[in-house]
Amino acid sequence: MSKSYVIGFPRIGEQRELKKVLESFWAKKCPFSEVQKVAKELRLRHWSYQKKSHIEYISSNDFSLYDNMLDTAIMLNAIPKRFRDLKDHELYFSMARGDSLRVAMEMTKWFNTNYHYIVPELSLEDEYKLNSSKIINEYKEAKDHGFKTKINLIGPITFLALSKRVDGGDTYELIDKILPIYEELLKEISTLDDQIVIQFDEPIFAKDNETRVLSLLKIVYDKFGSISKNLKIAVITYFDHSNEATKVLVNSLVDYIGLDFLYGKENLKSLDLIANSGKKLIAGVVDGRNIWRNDIQNSIKLLKEISQTIPKEDIIISSSCSLLHTPFSLKYEDKMSSDLKSWLSFAVEKLDEIALISKIFLHDIDSLNESEKRALEDNIKANNSRKNSPKIHNDKIQQKIKNLTKFQRDDKFEDRIKAQRDALKYPILPTTTIGSFPQTKEVRKARAEFKKGSISQEKYEQKMKEYIDDCIAFQEECGLDVLVHGEPERNDMVEYFGEQLNGYGFSQNGWVQSYGSRCVKPPFIYGDISRAKPMTLNWIKYAQSKTKKIVKGMLTGPVTMLNWSFVRDDKPKDEVSKQLAIALSDEIDDLQNGGIKIIQVDEAAFKEGYPLRESKIKSYEKWAIRDFKIATSKAKKETQIHTHMCYSEFNDIIKTIEAMDADVISIETARSGNELLKIFKKVGYKQEIGPGVYDIHSPRVPSVDEIVNQIKLLLEVLPKEQLWINPDCGLKTRKWEEVKPSLKNMTQAVKIVKNS
Ligand code: GLN
Ligand code: ZN
Repeated sequence: MSKSYVIGFPRIGEQRELKKVLESFWAKKCPFSEVQKVAKELRLRHWSYQKKSHIEYISSNDFSLYDNMLDTAIMLNAIPKRFRDLKDHELYFSMARGDSLRVAMEMTKWFNTNYHYIVPELSLEDEYKLNSSKIINEYKEAKDHGFKTKINLIGPITFLALSKRVDGGDTYELIDKILPIYEELLKEISTLDDQIVIQFDEPIFAKDNETRVLSLLKIVYDKFGSISKNLKIAVITYFDHSNEATKVLVNSLVDYIGLDFLYGKENLKSLDLIANSGKKLIAGVVDGRNIWRNDIQNSIKLLKEISQTIPKEDIIISSSCSLLHTPFSLKYEDKMSSDLKSWLSFAVEKLDEIALISKIFLHDIDSLNESEKRALEDNIKANNSRKNSPKIHNDKIQQKIKNLTKFQRDDKFEDRIKAQRDALKYPILPTTTIGSFPQTKEVRKARAEFKKGSISQEKYEQKMKEYIDDCIAFQEECGLDVLVHGEPERNDMVEYFGEQLNGYGFSQNGWVQSYGSRCVKPPFIYGDISRAKPMTLNWIKYAQSKTKKIVKGMLTGPVTMLNWSFVRDDKPKDEVSKQLAIALSDEIDDLQNGGIKIIQVDEAAFKEGYPLRESKIKSYEKWAIRDFKIATSKAKKETQIHTHMCYSEFNDIIKTIEAMDADVISIETARSGNELLKIFKKVGYKQEIGPGVYDIHSPRVPSVDEIVNQIKLLLEVLPKEQLWINPDCGLKTRKWEEVKPSLKNMTQAVKIVKNS
């Protein structure tokens, strides 16, 4: 008896094969048949990996050419009107990416991960009907190659919860429309084999839900559970606890309940209910969204605790969520130090962990064969080495944290802003940008060559300085008030700082799918964070030396550093964030002592880290605010602190933003209209604010008139003394040909408004 379960597997490929073939197809460099060929190879390879590791529950339909929510919309024939004249893969990719005639469907974050899904657009008029081909074909394909799979589906309630209605009204109203389609699908599946497990992902129940939504659970899953005895129904949740849902599910006709015991420890409270229901428990104990090697002894302890309530034979050992959120394999990491590498585990390595834990737990240690025994010993050794490594613990930093006395700036905002206006003398409606300027081919090339060692430090610096010169010259010519250096030395706003901080590690091939073919390679925090030396000072000082205008220094804030990294799991997150904050506070001090008068601390990912559960939000906000304030605590009264956030929906967190106590915040508004800004007026937001006056996410150059209008709209809700004028995000993804006229139009527009 080995009961090992994997919720889902990454699909992008260990060498990002799927990305490459998709992009080549989109660029018309290969036919679609090539995409299909690669996709098939990947599926087979991924199944083989799982089988080789003795995973018993392997999935089909966890593969996708773009996204599983999109696949589900296709399965239901929920096709928005504008795409209805298209077919097959043209239809599919057009829904995902748009085309010359049609805008793409919206994309948004999958819960609190960095994966983004396509948001289905539903309407009462849609003609819902079953399109089961992908699901059936994948199942058969696996079977033909000797893999017996469970079938993964996004549960109908989560599907509706994450979709939007384009005809007004509530998505849940459509449950009666889509249920029959799901039922038809299950009937079709039930004819394929004597016993098939269907995994329904219902992560929406890891959030707080209204009773009305919870009550759908029983209706839906009683239906599904009674379709055929050939089907075994598993409902799984992840990313937090789902105790409310479990209460319902134990009385429904499902066979398995899957719970995340790492990010939803509270699930332990549901064990009694499950035990009495006789359902099987899929126990998520191997972290599916972080990269640390499992501590097998700890996992066994946790499972023993669970088995005090639930009989062993009813427990199945699983990843906590789909392994989609971890990189593929450590196989290609040949530059990492061996101890660091031994502390990590990517998707492929996690398979062996799940299998080994399951064997030890269900049969005990004596049942292990020689190689399994060795694997267990290795695991214990690696975890001990991690616990005791001097690379991780830094007494000096810990002392510094203990002795920290300065948690915020000395002066109140009202006093600071007066001093700043006096010292900095910026005009009414001051103009600025968010930081980065276009990352040209030459800039990228110079960075890459420097990294490889094929150009000297001197040559590299010279190239960067030339870029900064051009940036400054253009900004002066354009008449901007507060300038930036343009960030040419940064490939990424987190990685750049991570590379200079002790405690940060990097992989060579640790790619994780972010959306479609797009992958990110987050750095990871393995040890106590400290700053060896100033990280940005020389660049900013250089830029400042080239102009009489003020150059704004540019840093990434502690919360964003944290939210866009894999974070160590041996310390509470808020402690890691505090360490980051302290390192940044030293940087700010160096900058102001170096003559820099305005410093921006970007918190682009501040909102991303919000917990799924209302009850956990307070504590997140508390430490996130605390650490932003620690980071900026050393700023003198006259030093102006800016922050930037890439969102427009602030209604729910406006008080939190105010509490961060920055002097100026720039935000994204161009895309979402001004409605949202009224909230700033309503709550009496007192700090200065730069709501983006145009959308940088599109190549379009905004006209002067358009920006004039936008500024006038802003002036209806905010007093002119409070308002800054800037684009809505960094310009690094744009081209100079777009940026130059856009910013010139922006400064022109400000002139017109001032004179009117
Ligand atoms: N300063 C950064 C830039 O301009 C901010 C990026 C962001 O908000 N994502 O690129
Ligand atoms: Zn931004």
